Amino acid sequence: MDTCTFDVVVIGAGPAGSRAASRIAGAGRRVLLLEKRERIGFPVRCAEAVGPREDVERYLTLDDSLVSSPIHGVLVASPGGERFESQMRDIGFIIDRELFDRRLAEAAGRNGAEVRTGHQAVRLLTGNGRIHGVTVRECNSGAEYDVRSSVVVGADGIEALSPRWAGLKHSFRPDEIFSCAQKLVSGLDIPRPFMEFHLGERFAPGGYAWVFPKGGDRANVGVGVNPSRARGKTAVDYLEEFISHRCPGGTRHRLIGGGCSVARGLPTLATDGYVVVGEAGHQNNPFSGGGIINALEGADMAAETITAALDSGDVSKRSLDAYSRSWKKAVGRTNDTFYRAARIFYSLPDGEMDGLIRKLIRTPGIVHSKGVNPSRMVLAIMMHRPSLVFKLFGSLFPSRR
Ligand SMILES: Cc1cc2nc3c(=O)[nH]c(=O)nc-3n(C[C@H](O)[C@H](O)[C@H](O)COP(=O)(O)OP(=O)(O)OC[C@H]3O[C@@H](n4cnc5c(N)ncnc54)[C@H](O)[C@@H]3O)c2cc1C
Repeated sequence: MDTCTFDVVVIGAGPAGSRAASRIAGAGRRVLLLEKRERIGFPVRCAEAVGPREDVERYLTLDDSLVSSPIHGVLVASPGGERFESQMRDIGFIIDRELFDRRLAEAAGRNGAEVRTGHQAVRLLTGNGRIHGVTVRECNSGAEYDVRSSVVVGADGIEALSPRWAGLKHSFRPDEIFSCAQKLVSGLDIPRPFMEFHLGERFAPGGYAWVFPKGGDRANVGVGVNPSRARGKTAVDYLEEFISHRCPGGTRHRLIGGGCSVARGLPTLATDGYVVVGEAGHQNNPFSGGGIINALEGADMAAETITAALDSGDVSKRSLDAYSRSWKKAVGRTNDTFYRAARIFYSLPDGEMDGLIRKLIRTPGIVHSKGVNPSRMVLAIMMHRPSLVFKLFGSLFPSRR
């Protein structure tokens, strides 16, 4: 078996992995970026929504080829059919996700990272109490080889195995994953480029259905459901019903499906010689499932810590845990609040959700031009029905794993 050596091996060329590889290689380190798929970013498993321009452009310039549609507002349809609309001109964009992922990987290559597609990490190399590389399978030939490195970055997404190989307390509970299905639908009348969210048992029990404009008469139309509330139906069943209701006469194109994490954050994101980033590290927003920008932000924090650790020659858990702390401070705590709010919100029966949505929409300061204020949302949920306070505090200490 051949062996080669890098400073850092990154598993997975999604946004998290490509960005981490790019930043670490840009700091002058030898980086190998592994992607098991032959074609980066394909097939797309995403509704392709990102936030405001300034948030995205910290990582990649949003030129016209990347933007399918700007978003100018949000529409929320309550289970009882009430519709609440808010114009929000700067809220974000629907992007071309395949091109987005490819551009990020190309940036890593330009910064000096070696990108190998069709190469899958199959296990970690361990010894002397730490991780020091990966075994890689070349997907076409099945040939395996070892790559030694000072640090391994697990950026392997929702299907991640590397955190468990590394011994981190990682697994997705079934009720912490939205089971998603989506079709591109054309022939729609889209008067304004608003993102639509539809709530309730009928179309998306325990989650939501969406219509995100893709430009012209097209939209990504999808559902994310909590599998434990699905009453024996699949996400595709719910999707077909939703499209028939919301987009009658629309032409249905390619179906995509997949899981999306709405999990609670991990207690730690590092161990000796290993860090986890992006969806593999439970970094998605647990209320919406959105994870692209969080993955990029997590990648930057991980890269900064790894580069400093390599400079100091100390890649122990103690040293790499600086990244766990910076994540917790910058995003993790807010994500914890979103997690608590989501546990309550998505568990409400339809009738109660109707009343709560009415209240949330009208409470000043919850919805602003760029999104939602999580603390105010939790406060409003508690004030809506004081008994929810007990549920909320219960959810602070959920029984886990
Ligand atoms: C239907 C759906 C809709 C979504 N919509 C949105 C949205 O509108 N906005 C948003 O922000 N987020 C959305 N998300 C979530 C978003 O797609 C993820 O949070 C994001 O892709 C996470 O990025 P990542 O780099 O962590 O993981 P990924 O993008 O999943 O990348 C992981 C990569 O690792 C590769 N890989 C896995 N295992 C190995 C291995 N052993 N060896 C080598 N390579 C490996 C995979 O092939 C993959 O390319 C959606 C998710 C779903 C399922």
